[in-house]
Amino acid sequence: MKTLVTSSVKKASEFIKRGEVVAFPTETVYGLGADVYNEEAVKKIFYAKMRPPDNPLIVHVHNYSQIESIVKKITPVAEKIIDKFFPGPITIVLKKNDVISEYISGGLDTVAIRLPSLQLTQKFIKECGVPLAAPSANLSGSPSPTSWNHVYFDLNGRIPCILKGPNCKIGLESTVVDCTQKFPVILRPGIISSEELKTIFPDVKIYNPRGYIRPKSPGMKYKHYAPKAKVILINNQVDLEKYNIKFSESAFIGFMKVRNFKKVKRLNDLRDYARSLFDFFRKCDKMKIKTIYCQTVPPEGLGLAIMNRLIKASHNE
Ligand code: AMP
Ligand code: MG
Repeated sequence: MKTLVTSSVKKASEFIKRGEVVAFPTETVYGLGADVYNEEAVKKIFYAKMRPPDNPLIVHVHNYSQIESIVKKITPVAEKIIDKFFPGPITIVLKKNDVISEYISGGLDTVAIRLPSLQLTQKFIKECGVPLAAPSANLSGSPSPTSWNHVYFDLNGRIPCILKGPNCKIGLESTVVDCTQKFPVILRPGIISSEELKTIFPDVKIYNPRGYIRPKSPGMKYKHYAPKAKVILINNQVDLEKYNIKFSESAFIGFMKVRNFKKVKRLNDLRDYARSLFDFFRKCDKMKIKTIYCQTVPPEGLGLAIMNRLIKASHNE
């Protein structure tokens, strides 16, 4: 199949209307979307990505009434999050109604919903006229795409259209929050942090905060975010010196000044880390780097989301 790369929202939306899948930009990562109401189209997402069927999708909407149309009810916790953070890099989980097929929910009785803040994404969803079910637009198991080039590399020939937009400003996937109970539970950490949520919900919980990993958000049990290279987490210079590093086939990402590595990404701050991480992984793979040394950060604020992805990437499960 030929993959059209276009900047035209109108052209891209025509593919959705014909029951095809389209990759599209958001502020977090690129998504691979299909019409929520078209089961055959939704199945194509799993085929193109080679995604396991029990890994649910996020429904991307452009207004409040689209949320109402797919859930049993909008709980008080969800209302508050919508009020404070929508549009933005946060996903709410609510009880689904019958409109949402089991392909989208991965067999669960809930649905994940997000309203992206990137204007281009909103325009696209609006033009499609329906909510879009979408996971990240990468091949299953590889790092999420943060530019249209990443999508092209993974899915060229497997999908009919990429809506070309800017590189993703955030670069990590959205915060996922279970809103079905009286208090919110963070299932996947993201740039909207537990500290920020705590200012509104003093009783916010983080699902399994210790390991920074929570299988309750089903996708999290799969190998994720991982480059082909081996990922080793290091805390500081002393830690680094413990390794017998083969510099000619190794890379480093972090805040310390290091020398001799084949590839180095020196970071300015946590936002830079979040934005650069997946792109760095992909570049290292292209260069056939064998080992990537990643500097750890304190697991607070955005640091928790970064550590969550780093730990996933370093586990060869
Ligand atoms: P991706 O955007 O590729 O990370 O895929 C969407 C992710 O959202 C899934 O892997 C899950 O972790 C999460 N998700 C989607 N639907 C649900 C749900 N109903 N309950 C909990 N987590 C969900
Ligand atoms: Mg994904």
